[in-house]
Order: sequence, then structure tokens, then C-alpha cells
Amino acid sequence: MHVKPLSQHFNDFVIERERARCINCEVCVRQCSYEAHFWDEARQFVVHDSARCVGCHRCAAMCPTSCLTIRKKPSDFRDNSLWTSTYIKHIFKQADTGGVLLSGMGNPQPKPIYWDNMLLDASQVTNPSIDPLREPMELRTFLGAKPDAVDFSHTPEGPRLKQPLPPQLQLEYPIMFAAMSFGAINFNLHVAMARAATQLGICYNTGEGGLHPDLYQYGANTIVQVASGRFGVHKDYLNAGAAVEIKVGQGAKPGIGGHLPGEKIDEEVSRTRMVPQGSDAISPAPHHDIYSIEDLLQLIYAIKESTRYRVPVAVKIAAVHNAPAIASGIVRAGADIVVIDGFRGGTGAAPTMIRDNVGIPIELALASVDNRLRDEGIRNHASLVVAGGVRCSADVVKAIALGADAVYIGTAALVAVGCTLCGRCYTGKCPWGIATNAAQLKKRQNPDVAAQRMANLVRAWGHEIQEMLGGMGLNSIESLRGNRDKLRGAGLNEVELGVLGIKHAGL
Ligand code: SF4
Ligand code: SF4
Ligand code: SF4
Repeated sequence: MHVKPLSQHFNDFVIERERARCINCEVCVRQCSYEAHFWDEARQFVVHDSARCVGCHRCAAMCPTSCLTIRKKPSDFRDNSLWTSTYIKHIFKQADTGGVLLSGMGNPQPKPIYWDNMLLDASQVTNPSIDPLREPMELRTFLGAKPDAVDFSHTPEGPRLKQPLPPQLQLEYPIMFAAMSFGAINFNLHVAMARAATQLGICYNTGEGGLHPDLYQYGANTIVQVASGRFGVHKDYLNAGAAVEIKVGQGAKPGIGGHLPGEKIDEEVSRTRMVPQGSDAISPAPHHDIYSIEDLLQLIYAIKESTRYRVPVAVKIAAVHNAPAIASGIVRAGADIVVIDGFRGGTGAAPTMIRDNVGIPIELALASVDNRLRDEGIRNHASLVVAGGVRCSADVVKAIALGADAVYIGTAALVAVGCTLCGRCYTGKCPWGIATNAAQLKKRQNPDVAAQRMANLVRAWGHEIQEMLGGMGLNSIESLRGNRDKLRGAGLNEVELGVLGIKHAGL
């Protein structure tokens, strides 16, 4: 007798179909990669099995008669504040499989979201506000080490710097597309990010999966990543981008490596990553050549040598308890950009317990890293970029006021093209055609349409950032950087305010 695993008795979602409006077109059957809808030959109409539904809403969005509703299952276990249904279902699943729980996307736990407890200032009478529609408003940002002082010589063509600046990454918006590897997301999305970044004058990050040969043409808007697995890393790759990023840690899974399941490694991914087709691509937890800041320094300078000191080198770490000390070491090791990825950062696949319990909020990590680098007098030796849970333009403004030079957006860019945060990226069956390399699914993303949507998002945020800056009486993003007086806390305790370095509202 076949006994259904216990975990499958307790599904999270219910599919509701208004039978009178359903025209049996089978669109939902074709759209659901989890086979939750199917044709019933005996009854001659489309039926469903809610137990298979992961709540991605693709079928409901595509149904031509809008007769589908996906609901959270209303019946649940008896209320118990300790043994919530999430923990009960986790245990059922682990007792069924004996395996580690996996998740995609970011930490959904109800931990404090400090962005929501910080409020922005606005000008009133003195220092009047600026209308960004009538006056210039500068969002251009340069990432890289800045000299302690600059010396000019005067020439007939105007003032010229006496010493060349260290290499800089020029961005027209203080926003970049975060590292999402080719393989974790598919080629169409990489093309889209590359084209959107080029249109916008910003950068996208390859992630740890190498760079597809067709994307070398977008090198001026590409940051190439070097991670512990060194997938797809070679001299031409390092020289293809406008910056190189060494990934030491990732916010969604600090302290552990990466894992791209073999099912997602098709021929193209295999060639780009330089790993066998169909085999799991596992990047180790540490870089096996980095066991100290001195080792990291060696790698930074090896990359600088390989790229002839033309491009800035970034080092990305997860936001953890001692992020300020680590960041200080990274800057002293010669990095031009420090990237801090908070615990709400997205991922294609992470052990659920790591994703939900390791790391700290990016807002706290950012403020404490900025403080530490200022206290040590080395803040201008590197730019700070933050990632992990940036949801809207106000989050960007608050991040910059806390001390960031720019932000990375990953999840927001995927939401722009349809992601509904169903969290099943690791299955390779993403019904929105994003976190999948299956031929029939990835064609759901048209690179031109996706590029336009991503570019629209950043432009819209750019307009909003200009409005917020103007409202504060500032006419450039540079004037906001680290200007914490423009922030006030609401509903935060003394310790939180102290770490963030802001006053409480009313003060
Ligand atoms: S897509 Fe909508 S109308 Fe078509 S079969 Fe499914 S539920 Fe019915
Ligand atoms: S397409 Fe998504 S929402 Fe619809 S039934 Fe399948 S898994 Fe559920
Ligand atoms: S990328 Fe796809 S699988 Fe991942 S959360 Fe978004 S919709 Fe779900």
C-alpha cells in the first residue's frame, strides 16, 4: 500500500476555481510547473491538486477568465505560540526525508525591519526644499578608493589632478543589480540585467557562475565575481568587467558555500561555469587560499595585477556580529569597495535554518561598519555598498544617509519581472521563468521586456530619490551620504538608536 508522506498531507495553499467561469482552456495546466492543475479525462474538465501548489500565483495571473484564486490554507493546527505550524511542518518533512530543509529567497522571519523604524527629514522654512523637476539633482555616484587629499595644477584646459585617482566605477544611480549567478537564474535574465544596466549607466553583477561569452559586450556595466568555487574564473573573465568582486560571504547563508543542483546545470551553464553538465556545482564554505587578512590581501593584489590596476576590486561579506572589524581588515587589505550583504538577502538555495537564524540586519551592520571605518580614519579608502532587503527608494535613501555609497538590489529586480517570492527557487521549476534553466520555462522571460521592466524600476526609484533629496533641501546624493541627521528613529530603544547613530523622533 502506498502511504503518502506525512508532510504532504498538510499543504500550505488551496486552489479555488470558479467552475462556472472556467472555460477549460488548460492554460493553468500548461503554466503550472508543479502539475497542480491537470485534465480529468473521465469528467472532461480541468481539476487540481492543492497539495502540489507552492503559491507562486502564476496560474491565477495567466487565467484568461480570472477564475482562479490561490489562498493560504485556512485550516491550521491548534494555536500554540511555541509549536507554530511552521515548526510542525518542518519536523514532518525532516522525518519524511531525513534531509536538511532548503529554502529559496530571503529570510521571511518577523525580525525587526529597521528601515521601517527610521523616518526622513524634510525642509520647511530655512534651507528651502528643491524642486527636482526644475533644478538639477545629481544621483551620479563613484565607487572606489578616494585619496585623502587632491592636488590640482592649472592648465589652459582648466584644472587637472596632479595624481591619478584610483580606479572608480561610475554609476548614474546609486543602485546596482546584485550578484545572481548564471545557473541560479537563466541566461534571459542575465541578458536583461546586462541590458538594463547598460541603459541606466549602472552595473549588474555576474554572481559566481562565470560570464556567458555573449555578455562580454556589456563589460563596461558588469561586475565579475570571484567566489570560493572559482567557477568560470579566468584571465579574460577578470578583464571583462568594470570591477571585480571577491565573494567571501553571502547574507542569506553566512559561513557556508553555494550549491547549484545538477538539474540546473545544462550545456550552456556547464560551459560558462567550467563544470560538468548535470553535476552539482558546490562552492566551498571558505576560499581555500584565504585563512587570514594577509591571504585576502594576496588575492586582492593578484586580481589587481591581472587587471593591470584598471578596475576597482570589491570584497563582499555577509553582515555578521563582527562585520566592522572584518570590514576594517578588508579595507586595510587594499579593497576599493566593501559590500555588506544583510540577513534578508535572497538566494537560489540555502539551508532554511541558516537563512533564518544566521547573520544580522543590514541597517545595523551598515551603521556600525561606517562608524568603525570613520573612527579609524579609513572611510575614504573604500566605498561601502549594501545589499539584502532593499525594497523601495526610501530604503535606498535611508541606506545612503546611514553611510552607504550605493546599494545592490536582487529580489526587487526579480519581483520586477514577476517573482512572487514563493521561495522554491532551488527546485529549478520556477513558473515565472526566472530561477530555472528548463527550456519551456525560461522562454517565459523575454530579455527585452525584462530589461525594460528592470530599467523602469530603477528609473522610478531614481525619480523618487530625487524628490526625497529635494524635500530635504539637498541637490546631490553626495550631500546625503552618511548624513544621519536626516534620519530619526521611531519605536527604537536606546541601544538600537546608538548602533544606528541616529536620534529618536522628537529630538
Ligand atoms: S486557465 Fe482558467 S479558464 Fe483556463 S482551465 Fe484554467 S482555470 Fe479554467
Ligand atoms: S502555478 Fe503556482 S499558484 Fe498555480 S497551482 Fe501551480 S504552484 Fe500553485
Ligand atoms: S524566482 Fe521563481 S521560484 Fe524563486 S521565489 Fe521567485 S517566483 Fe519563486
